[in-house]
This record gives sequence, C-alpha cells and structure tokens, in this order.
Amino acid sequence: MEYKDAYAEIMRMYDKDRIECFHERNRRRDAAYAEIPELEGVDGEIASFAIKAAKYILEHQGDTTSEGIALALLKQRHEEVLKERAELLQKCTLGPNCLDPVYKCPKCQDTGFIENQKCACFQARMIKLNYSSSNLENILQKENFDTFNLKLFSELPFDPNPKPKPDPDPKLDPDPKSKPDPKSKPEPKPNPNEGKDSDLADPSGKKAEDKHLKVPPRKNMKSMYNRCKSFVENFGKGTGDKNLFIHGKAGLGKTFLCSCIAKAILDKEYVVIYNTAPALFDMLSDVRFGKNLERVPPNLRSDMETCDLLILDDLGSEMVTTATNSDLFAILNERLRMNKSTVISSNLNPQEMQAIYTDRIVSRIWGNYARLELYGPDLRYRK
Ligand SMILES: [Zn+2]
Repeated sequence: MEYKDAYAEIMRMYDKDRIECFHERNRRRDAAYAEIPELEGVDGEIASFAIKAAKYILEHQGDTTSEGIALALLKQRHEEVLKERAELLQKCTLGPNCLDPVYKCPKCQDTGFIENQKCACFQARMIKLNYSSSNLENILQKENFDTFNLKLFSELPFDPNPKPKPDPDPKLDPDPKSKPDPKSKPEPKPNPNEGKDSDLADPSGKKAEDKHLKVPPRKNMKSMYNRCKSFVENFGKGTGDKNLFIHGKAGLGKTFLCSCIAKAILDKEYVVIYNTAPALFDMLSDVRFGKNLERVPPNLRSDMETCDLLILDDLGSEMVTTATNSDLFAILNERLRMNKSTVISSNLNPQEMQAIYTDRIVSRIWGNYARLELYGPDLRYRK
C-alpha cells in the first residue's frame, strides 16, 4: 500500500472511531437520563451558561460593575450545577464517568494527532496497515492457538537418522553398525523428565539427537506450544522468555506457531510486524538501491527496530549476503538494546546457522533467545 493511500485509510479509521464514540456516548447519555431524569435538566442548564454569559455582557455593556456582578452570580451558579451533576452521577448505575466520551486513544482523542504531531496510535496503525496484509489476516484467522491440532504430531519416538535396512546378505555388509540392533531401538515410553531443556541443547547436535529418540514429536510439540503460549501470556510484563528461536526442518509447524503468536499479540493490541526473511531482506535491498519504493513502507528500518514484536519467519531461506548479514545484525542488535521482543523461525540447525551467519549474529541469538526445537516426520506428507 502506498503511503498516501495508507494515510487516507488511517484518517478514515479515525473518523469511524469518533463517530462510534459519539454514538456510544449518546446511547449511555440516554440511558443515564432515563435512570436519573434530573440529570437532563442539569445538563440543559450547563449548556445554556455560555449563551447567558454572552447575553449579560451585551445587556450590561458599558456598566462594568453590574456586568461583573451578573457574571459572578452566573459563575457561582455554574459551580453549583456542576456539583449537583457530579452528585447525581454518583447515583447512576452506569458509573460516575458514564457521560464522558470513551476514546480508543485518550491521548489524541481519536484524531491521530497531538498538537500537529502524529500520536503513537497513528504510527501503530501505519505499521499494522503496512505489514499486516489482508492475506496475513486470513492466515491468522485459520492459524491460531485455538485451531492448533496437537494430534497431527506423532506419538511415536522419532529417529532423525534411521539406520539403513539390513542387507539381505549379512556377509556383504561392510559396516556391522548398520545391522539392526534391538538394544538401540528407542524406548516406546518416554521419560517424563525429558524435553525440559530443549533450549539448552548443545550446538554439536548430539544431545538433540538423543532427545529426538526419547521424546516423541507430539510430546515435544506440546511443550513447545506451551512455551509459546506462556510467551504470549507474559508479553509486556517483563517476565518469561523475551525472544524465541523456533527451529526444525520444513513442515513441522514453525510457521503455524509464529502465526499463533502473531495473532495472540495483535489481539492484545501490540504492534506486531510479521515478515518472512526473504520478503524483509528484499524490501531492505529495495531501500538500499532506491527501487520499488512505492511498495516499501516509508519507515521500514525504524519500524523493524521499534515495533513491540518482530516475527521473522523462515530465517535462512533468504539469499544471504554481506548486506543481509549486516542488516540482520543491526536489527537484532537494536531490538535487544531497546529490550524489544523478537521471534525467529528457521529451518537451520545451530551448525548450519554458524556456517552462514556471522559470529556476532549467531552469538546474539544463542545468548538472548530461548531455543525451541521441533522435530518429527514432515506434516505436509501426512493426512
Ligand atoms: Zn492517539
């Protein structure tokens, strides 16, 4: 969406909000008047004060003393009536503030501006419009914590490196290790204490492999799902995981988890930017080379750095260059510095991350992100 279209769309939203606010206020006013009829008379009197004041000034023109006396009396009556009104409202079952307008944003009273400066709610709407395409909204309707189906995940232990089938003729088998060994079979009943240290898995992958054999994908997924839910519940409270790195091979539900988180945090009215890594780096490259600027949000870089939650889906599927490495580091680093949460999903395992990203990116992620590993059979190939 082009900036001027987004701007017009946002101004329409504010118009709509103010109209809604006005109708809602009238509705509550009518209900309050029905409950306490004296309120209507008091409000009528308050509304008449300005006219009365103007009238007194005209009537007593040139006679400053009597004008002053009249206005002082009017002021005194005005104060009495306001007091009376407040007392009546105390009795109202709708609450003492029921006649005040309820703005979505009290700071700018749903105008989007405070003294000619854009309100924070304006920036938030601009980001939402620029990054939450209607397409994403559709996805979020379908992919959220309520539609998550744990039963899709296998209850059986998962062997990431299944041994080749034994050769029909054992004499021709040069590697005795490939023979089926009943002792090496994973235990069907997993230890309930396993899988609690998923983010502490060592980069060598050995511990991870052990875990795959002991904790079936469904049980692992349940624990990752709960981790994502608690991330959402703790969001903005300064407790729990601040950043998540969700990794595992394709077709295991990483994007689904990202969608669940995006939807839940958007529902909490936070500013969320959700992008796939290729889309993000394409846009950053457009900004660098001054191309397709009409399609790029005008404050892309600062939006990425300042939004409440940045979700970077499928990191590693972009074309990695020195420029993307430098952009990625700058964004992740700035978000850490500003204590902003980030969720990254990736097909890459820790060793692969180390191979394609600079050390400083990898160390930022390992040092500051809870690691959630998904594994199991590819869900796209099962019914
Ligand atoms: Zn505002």
